[in-house]
Amino acid sequence: MEKIVDLRSDTVTKPSLAMREIMAKAEVGDDVYGEDPTVRQLEEMAAAIMGKEAGLFVVSGTMGNQVALLAHTSRGDEIILEANAHIYTYEVGALAVLGGLLPKLIEGNKGKISPEQLKKAIRPLNIHFPQTTLLCLENTSNFGGGTVISVEEMDQLTDVAHGYGLKVHLDGARIFNAAVYLGVPVRELVKGVDSVMFCLAKGLGAPVGSVLVGSKEFIEKARKYRKMLGGGLRQSGILAAAGIYALENNIERLAYDHLLARKLAEGLAELPGLYIDLDTVQTNILMVDIVREDLNSTQLVDILKDEGVLSSAISEKRVRFVTHRDVGDKDIDYTLQVMSKIMMAK
Ligand SMILES: *Cc1c(COP(=O)(O)O)cnc(C)c1O
Repeated sequence: MEKIVDLRSDTVTKPSLAMREIMAKAEVGDDVYGEDPTVRQLEEMAAAIMGKEAGLFVVSGTMGNQVALLAHTSRGDEIILEANAHIYTYEVGALAVLGGLLPKLIEGNKGKISPEQLKKAIRPLNIHFPQTTLLCLENTSNFGGGTVISVEEMDQLTDVAHGYGLKVHLDGARIFNAAVYLGVPVRELVKGVDSVMFCLAKGLGAPVGSVLVGSKEFIEKARKYRKMLGGGLRQSGILAAAGIYALENNIERLAYDHLLARKLAEGLAELPGLYIDLDTVQTNILMVDIVREDLNSTQLVDILKDEGVLSSAISEKRVRFVTHRDVGDKDIDYTLQVMSKIMMAK
């Protein structure tokens, strides 16, 4: 079969042979009874890397974020999010359905909100108002185009939030991409937040799983909510083993994913009919806008698919490409060649 270059998402990465071998040999037990040593090892390792007290292995980023919201808030609370936040846009309305929460959205700049915007969004005490109890941040910002929030910016936002008595949850699905981009230890980047969810099944290449970290007390509450949502797993050490392998072996590679995204962006930026804000191409996500009347994103995605290149239509004129460990330099060359042929035609 002809080769497919799959740039839809970094979630498409498949576990390597070495990872599968580690999974097959994992020591396991019943994790609902707290008896799976490999799950415990992953949870402790994740907590140590993030500089937090405890960790909780969950099946997906969505589950990690949602149990975090449940553990931090009460029904009827208001929580602050950037307008395109994954927690608000892409998690099936769970914050309302499960948490009974009101979202207060702030229109950010490339996925980032400012401390001034945050201050204005927090409700003052008034019998008529819901209580604002949580700030959610996202780093890197998926819909911002993989953009990074710096250590200083994170600290400023968490200081404001804590000053008003709010807790802070970080949707850090791709927090390692942010840390690699900034060249700082990940714990430095997350030191001010109360909880972090990060994904093992994206650029880190594990088949399943995310980890939520925070204080011991918070994780105990989250563990109970995980069980409530059906996320209490049994011999899940088989999955956790892949996560441990990913944390030990696959973080460094992210820098190369960023390099490939940059190369693709710079090549595409030279083609007619496309616009790319190169400032936003910081990590492994690339947003490309079509600036031609006669072509929309679903058409471009279809034409690319016929040539063996997979991408995602994000809006009418916007296409997303994501680099990851299962694509290489030659795949990017091929993608550029195909895109050039498409955009030069007519
Ligand atoms: C992918 C993603 C999630 C959720 O991950 P799933 O494992 O697909 O549920 C959460 N937040 C962000 C920013 C993401 O990109």
